[in-house]
Amino acid sequence: MELICGVQNYEWGKRGKESKVAEFLKSAQPKNKIEKETPYAELWMGCHPSVPSKVKQGNQLLQNVIIKDPSVLGKNVTDKFGNQLPFLFKILSINKALSIQAHPSKKLAEELHAKQPDIYKDPNYKPEMAIALTPFEALCGFRPVCEIKAFLQAVPELKNLMQDVNTDDDFQLVKSAIRSVLQQPKEKVEEEVNNLIDRISKIKSEHQKCFENVELIQRLSKQFPGDVGIFMVYFLNHIKLNPGEAIYLAECEPHAYLCGDCVECMACSDNVVRAGLTPKLIDVDTLVSMLTYQCTPPEDKIFWPCVEDTYTYVFQPPVPDFAVAHIKIPGQTNQHALIKRKSASILVVTSGKGTSENRELVPGRVFFVPAEQEFKLSSEEDLEIFQAFVNI
Ligand SMILES: [Zn+2]
Repeated sequence: MELICGVQNYEWGKRGKESKVAEFLKSAQPKNKIEKETPYAELWMGCHPSVPSKVKQGNQLLQNVIIKDPSVLGKNVTDKFGNQLPFLFKILSINKALSIQAHPSKKLAEELHAKQPDIYKDPNYKPEMAIALTPFEALCGFRPVCEIKAFLQAVPELKNLMQDVNTDDDFQLVKSAIRSVLQQPKEKVEEEVNNLIDRISKIKSEHQKCFENVELIQRLSKQFPGDVGIFMVYFLNHIKLNPGEAIYLAECEPHAYLCGDCVECMACSDNVVRAGLTPKLIDVDTLVSMLTYQCTPPEDKIFWPCVEDTYTYVFQPPVPDFAVAHIKIPGQTNQHALIKRKSASILVVTSGKGTSENRELVPGRVFFVPAEQEFKLSSEEDLEIFQAFVNI
């Protein structure tokens, strides 16, 4: 079933034709006009009520098609998740950093939702995974402790935000340093951000520029002047992904997407606890107490796929809600059957050209494939496809 998917025009999205989301929207639904100045941030593929996908034939909601015949999800899925697709699949095109955030565990999500249902809108966890489509940058997980300690010593503005941070225990040190930064009054933070920007603009040595993360800090400060999140650069790994590389964000792991286009898959939830680069509420107590404080080098954050067959890599996170296959079919391949999935899946073509039965496969075309159903295709040019399915 071919799907018609909607977009979100959040202001952090890439504008006009720069955006993969816009490119996909235009190529899959040519009647759409792409506006030069409009941000095209996210394409949503799934049943989330905010932007639910429709089945093209018959123009009905995918959710209704599933409710009419839940067997399309696969028996394992309905047994575990009921009549619901447990994941949401997206394309993101990011021009400006998203807020620094972490997502609660299932247990914590239940507690937060019970206490503050207006802020934490559902009781579910939200593991998520991003696979780069273009060069992609993110902040992800805590830096090695020795790096954090070096910054706490060497960056005077950061030092000025520390209060009562004296401990021999590395875990406690990072935790109390984060708490100290986030608890400072807004004016004090703004003053220290200004001092920092002034000072680093005068640094000449390339080595020192690199140590002080000058380029990233200047970029973030232009996007979010005076924001406390700018200091998080000294705590979190700055990760650069090449197309096809991925990060997986487990529960309670701090992260922020900075720029680039990616495929994203997540469990169905909206639970976010923020830590900066945002005008929204920062729930400092919840955030500081929930984070995992695992300090690792950035290369440990890259999430590697397994080989499934000649054309298919699969990214399988340690949760049942979703997995994503990355499929590359060489041009001029005839009648190739993709690996059959035990669950329903959603396919999105991200580059190339081909056909499946009498349907055209071009970038941005999205398909819902019922459980255990074969999907055969032929390629004219090299085809790249991402397929999200349930990881059970
Ligand atoms: Zn997130």
